[in-house]
Amino acid sequence: MNIKNSIKINCKNLGIIVFVSIVCLSNLGAQNMSDLQVYDESVFSNEDWLINNQNFIANIWKSEDEKSIVMSNGIISRTFRITPNAGTTSLKVLSKQEEHIRAVKPEAILSINGFTVNVGGLTGQPNLAFLYPDWLSDLKADPLSFKYTGFKMGTPEKRFDWKQVRHTAPNVSWPPKGVKLEMNYQLTDVLPEDLIALAQESNIGRKAIYHDDFSTMESDWSIRTSKNHERSSFFNEGKPGEIYTPNNTAVFAEYKLPKGTGLVETSIDAGTDVSGFWGPGIALVWNDKTIKFNMRPGNESGSKNTDAWRFTVFDGKKENTRAGGKDNVDFDGTWFLRLRIEGTKVYCEAKPKAGKWKTYQIIDFEKEVPEPLAVRIGKLGKNASGEDHDVPGELVRLTINEFSAYGKIDENEVQKIKSKLSDLQNLVVSVNYELYDGIPALSKWISIKNNSNQPVKVDQIISEYLGIADHNPYGGYRGREDLKVKPNIHFETDYAFSAMAANVANHQTVHWGTDQDYVTQISWIQDVPNTMRIYPDNGYHVNVAAGESFESIRSFMIPYDSYDKERNGLAQRKMYRTVAPWITENPMMFHITRSKWEDYTNGIDQAAEVGYEMVNFSFGSGFKPEDESEENYTKMKKYADYAHGKGIKIGTYSLLASRSISAMDDVVNPKTGKPGGFATFGNSPCLESEWGQDYFRKMYRMFSETGFMTFTHDGNYPGDVCASTEHPGHDNLGDSQYKQWKRLTDFYKWCKSQGIYLRVPDYYYLSGSNQNGVGYRENNWSLPRRHQLIHTRQNIFDGTWESTPSMRWSFIPLAQYHGGGAAATIEPLNEHLDHYEMMLVSNIGMGIQSALRGPRLYDTETTKAMVKRVVGWYKKYRDILESDIIHLRRADGRDIDYMMHVNPNLKEKGFLMVFNPTDHVIRKKIKVPLYYTGLSNEAVVREQEGTQKSFELDREYEIEIEVEVKPNWYNWYVIE
Ligand SMILES: [Zn+2]
Repeated sequence: MNIKNSIKINCKNLGIIVFVSIVCLSNLGAQNMSDLQVYDESVFSNEDWLINNQNFIANIWKSEDEKSIVMSNGIISRTFRITPNAGTTSLKVLSKQEEHIRAVKPEAILSINGFTVNVGGLTGQPNLAFLYPDWLSDLKADPLSFKYTGFKMGTPEKRFDWKQVRHTAPNVSWPPKGVKLEMNYQLTDVLPEDLIALAQESNIGRKAIYHDDFSTMESDWSIRTSKNHERSSFFNEGKPGEIYTPNNTAVFAEYKLPKGTGLVETSIDAGTDVSGFWGPGIALVWNDKTIKFNMRPGNESGSKNTDAWRFTVFDGKKENTRAGGKDNVDFDGTWFLRLRIEGTKVYCEAKPKAGKWKTYQIIDFEKEVPEPLAVRIGKLGKNASGEDHDVPGELVRLTINEFSAYGKIDENEVQKIKSKLSDLQNLVVSVNYELYDGIPALSKWISIKNNSNQPVKVDQIISEYLGIADHNPYGGYRGREDLKVKPNIHFETDYAFSAMAANVANHQTVHWGTDQDYVTQISWIQDVPNTMRIYPDNGYHVNVAAGESFESIRSFMIPYDSYDKERNGLAQRKMYRTVAPWITENPMMFHITRSKWEDYTNGIDQAAEVGYEMVNFSFGSGFKPEDESEENYTKMKKYADYAHGKGIKIGTYSLLASRSISAMDDVVNPKTGKPGGFATFGNSPCLESEWGQDYFRKMYRMFSETGFMTFTHDGNYPGDVCASTEHPGHDNLGDSQYKQWKRLTDFYKWCKSQGIYLRVPDYYYLSGSNQNGVGYRENNWSLPRRHQLIHTRQNIFDGTWESTPSMRWSFIPLAQYHGGGAAATIEPLNEHLDHYEMMLVSNIGMGIQSALRGPRLYDTETTKAMVKRVVGWYKKYRDILESDIIHLRRADGRDIDYMMHVNPNLKEKGFLMVFNPTDHVIRKKIKVPLYYTGLSNEAVVREQEGTQKSFELDREYEIEIEVEVKPNWYNWYVIE
């Protein structure tokens, strides 16, 4: 625990050392506003946290008026108004005094038991572009939201155990140092009738009258198709509900409604439809009129609708093409449309699949709405006439997925809601935040405690929702997503997979979106990315038993203080060092390609001899981690014991997802109900099938019994869903992704608790993985050796902007890899000694471990001496060589290329590696930027172990030094 230290510093900052420190200490565990001190932003240091972060200690304060709670570490702060409900009113980068919040949003949104309910949040902000402080006292609580009930303060807890058994960066700490804030919410003062407004299922409070999922075409329907085209159809190619017809033609199905109908609903995938008046929708029919509500995915000329108005309502007299005002929604994916009759009015409402119902227009009949005679769904035509346009346009394909009709609100049904309401009222929703010492990173997650006596179904949790200031005055992107200017904040989550880069791996949880309620700023069509919502695209869909709790995924954010790529990258690297410190483990690893005893013991002996720390069985080594035979276990133990005797840890390789097991165990395609044709790798076993569960049982057992300490987990879970309802570990498609992710990451977390080193070629760092590839194309390791050197250093240069060196591995093919023959391999090692050394130094000189893959590490005494010397050098300078990289000149084969490690906390503050890829000696003066070494006046530089020379830093914190590098060789300089 370092709390005492941290608090001492804060108190010292306040300048009242002894007395106040006692008051400070009482903050921990605080749960009353009176326990908190008043926030004073000015007490923090003005230093750059990337040079010295000792004085940036996270804590929690209150505002002077006691109406807000402030989390701050002197680098960033987040402020929550707590009355009349709680919501984030500020997210600030203190060094720049930059405010990111323009509008207050709910702290979270839950979809539970069919209800979608906001957690916290404040409404009534007059302008969503900015927030005048004097508006705060006028903001209102949404009466139908979870209400803030109180807070608890503490320190960050371990997300899981981490057994530290090997070398790490100096001063790592687990759990991270910082402060935790838990804000609690409950649903109070809500009437059962109110709850209907939150219901996302139209059946709440009503009796179901009719449902058709169009699995077959029932005779209840009469169909209208267009005479304009012979293939115009409502069941295209035999698929009921699939409309195939020219763009501007009417094709619909009509159903006669029974008396007492109060609500009709359909779900639509607009597909390739790009019509406006003829866009797909739903209509109610009376003798004297028809009303219509439809999507406008395009216009009659056949081009996509890029305006901010996306719905049309025909009220029986006139067509309103701007129904609901501006609402620049996205029609990719499934939409639900419904017409709801209440008294004298018909409500035209729509929602996207994972969204919330929104009313786009209310049609007032000015008398009790008479009983409708029929409903129509499909392409209904201008003025709901059911007629075609003069110019029919191109053929389009779209799908009506289902249709339901319900009765009017029913008193008996409303009574049933009471029990649903009490279930919701017995939930305690905790919104948790952790702010860390010394870095601009904040984590957030939601936990839900079910205190009711029934299970509740959690379908979705939007665990972060922020209205963020946008900075682009020029609206319009011509459909080019890549040209959108996003706010300068990094977000990621622990629900990341299927990629080696953070932003790609997080695409299914990190959602930059627009704010359709924000109507003042410049972009007329409101497609500026200015909200952040964190949720898994596929949702959770899990049951939480009575008395149990459930936790959402965790998000992590870094509000950047710069637009400089290096500085922002350093912030991201510092975050991983703090919230996932196991990534600083970086064992020297040899991938042995043979597992025969003599080959193996030779490999272990060699590894021990030269100072390597780990030996991994490479794929193709003949080692079978899934084989549970006594013989195999005995063998694995024997291998591990031999290695341990030499001080080496061993482990193995296993392929998880990118293969097919059986029709019974593979992930099932939701479209076909059969395996195949959709998974990321074509086929994949479901991790929650019998095979999947058994695989993980075997892995736990293998590691528990053998003493293996490293695992290369290849082809791991890429996020494939599974529509099976037979697999033991998940119910259906809905919970299949979350459950598979949980199965895998629970295993990784367990590995961490055992000290097992995890190499995973995907973004599982926050769930316990240590290392991921630096990003290379496998075939490059079959190129001639000279090519491989440049690729190696280009990969390292490009792959370490957002990663510490220890987070990435590269590759050294000692033996032939995928091809290339003798020209591409280092074996025989003693014949290519210079290349071998250059490959080793190009990697470990940059702190990058490589998959050094082959049958042996050395073949002669000379080779051995070289490897041993390089390893010794690496270990001598290990801490600085594993420190973050400043990217100076990328390898291009034309001139020297160089990169530098920096660490202001070490004796060696900079370590410059210079490589010469040319055939001649290069001697030249280069500028070396020393800002991030922390040196400010003078730098002492030495070439290798030579004599030190002193340099004065210029006003840019740079020095100019002369370097000299032999042809096709390297040199290094230590800066103190
Ligand atoms: Zn499955």
